[in-house]
Amino acid sequence: METPKEIFLKDYKLPDYYFETVYLKFVLGEESTIVSSEIVVVRRVEGSSAPLVLNGEDMKLVSIKVDGKELKADDYLLGPRHLTLVSPPSTKFTLEIVTDICPQKNTSLEGLYKSSGNFCTQCEAEGFRKITYYQDRPDIMAKYRVRIEADKSLYPVLLSNGNLLEEGDLEGGKHYALWEDPFQKPCYLFALVAGPLESRDDTFVTRSGRKVSLRIWTPAKDVPKTAHAMYSLKAAMKWDEDVFGLEYDLDLFNIVAVPDFNMGAMENKSLNIFNSRLVLASPETATDADYASILGVIGHEYFHNWTGNRVTCRDWFQLSLKEGLTVFRDQEFSSDLGSRPVKRIADVSKLRSYQFPQDAGPMAHPVRPHSYIKMDNFYTGKHCFVTLSRVLIHVYIQAYHCGLSFIVSSTLFKILSSRFNTFE
Ligand SMILES: [Zn+2]
Repeated sequence: METPKEIFLKDYKLPDYYFETVYLKFVLGEESTIVSSEIVVVRRVEGSSAPLVLNGEDMKLVSIKVDGKELKADDYLLGPRHLTLVSPPSTKFTLEIVTDICPQKNTSLEGLYKSSGNFCTQCEAEGFRKITYYQDRPDIMAKYRVRIEADKSLYPVLLSNGNLLEEGDLEGGKHYALWEDPFQKPCYLFALVAGPLESRDDTFVTRSGRKVSLRIWTPAKDVPKTAHAMYSLKAAMKWDEDVFGLEYDLDLFNIVAVPDFNMGAMENKSLNIFNSRLVLASPETATDADYASILGVIGHEYFHNWTGNRVTCRDWFQLSLKEGLTVFRDQEFSSDLGSRPVKRIADVSKLRSYQFPQDAGPMAHPVRPHSYIKMDNFYTGKHCFVTLSRVLIHVYIQAYHCGLSFIVSSTLFKILSSRFNTFE
């Protein structure tokens, strides 16, 4: 085994290779799942001869090809955490990799896993490397097309990011769906869900007239409990337009709520995934606090569409930037729709009971750490309580449109860090 390494912010280097497009094909099976990837790779600096290092864990490499030719054993190095192409072509090339993974045996709940009859993914922060060999880092931004094939009776619903291009039947009781996300994204925002789910459907018309289909997918018995979540989603879409001028950018928005989703909630582009407990409510049992918390969390994940997804982080040291910004937005949303003083008191008392003890103990760390071994340890309350002014957020979004997101995010980070602990 290779020992996990400590990663330092000061060591950040631009990647040697960028990925332009990624085509992924999943053949979901009961024993194992075959993942075929086809990536268009470009070298960042012409003339450099750097090796291409891909992350990958817990999978079997079936084949690897460059521009259609199978690589020989001495063209690459395969370790337990990396696959390295020793001397990739100097011009743009296509890399094809086939891996064999076992979602049924994946108990880490990172990557692709199967639980209670559903296939589901969780890729933030570093789960994509358990799906296929890839440069699993947020500054690798690519456009994705995803084809999913599975048994039709066991997995009638096949979801991924973006717009649904095609679906149809295959031989042997199988079917397929082809999804395309027109926007570049880091792989931590990739998502796939397949299973026997049913949906509550609605539509939202954006201020420029785009008609967006909204679907909340759950096991059949839970559909009646999703009315408040749908209300919350539509309210969030409208509020982001009114307050931040941010409009939804695709024709479809899917939410999945399943009981086995470990992470709580995840903002995958156009396919948000939640644990059921954060989404479902019925008037017979839910309290006012339950309704308020559903509104907040649905809003939070939706708001990430701009702050986090379209404007993303350069590296994981910037985690607090996307989270701080988005929590600020969800707090404003909940304050505008409910009571501002009540929301503030609840947030500060949560901060006192969870964040203060951490900051007083051995797990204390700056908003932006200087190093980490495993990023997951930083998903605590800390990033949730920083405040930024609306003006700065507008600067951030505008800069994104000029292609400056990474640079601006670093500058904003300094402001954000200096403002932490200045809440009233
Ligand atoms: Zn978040």
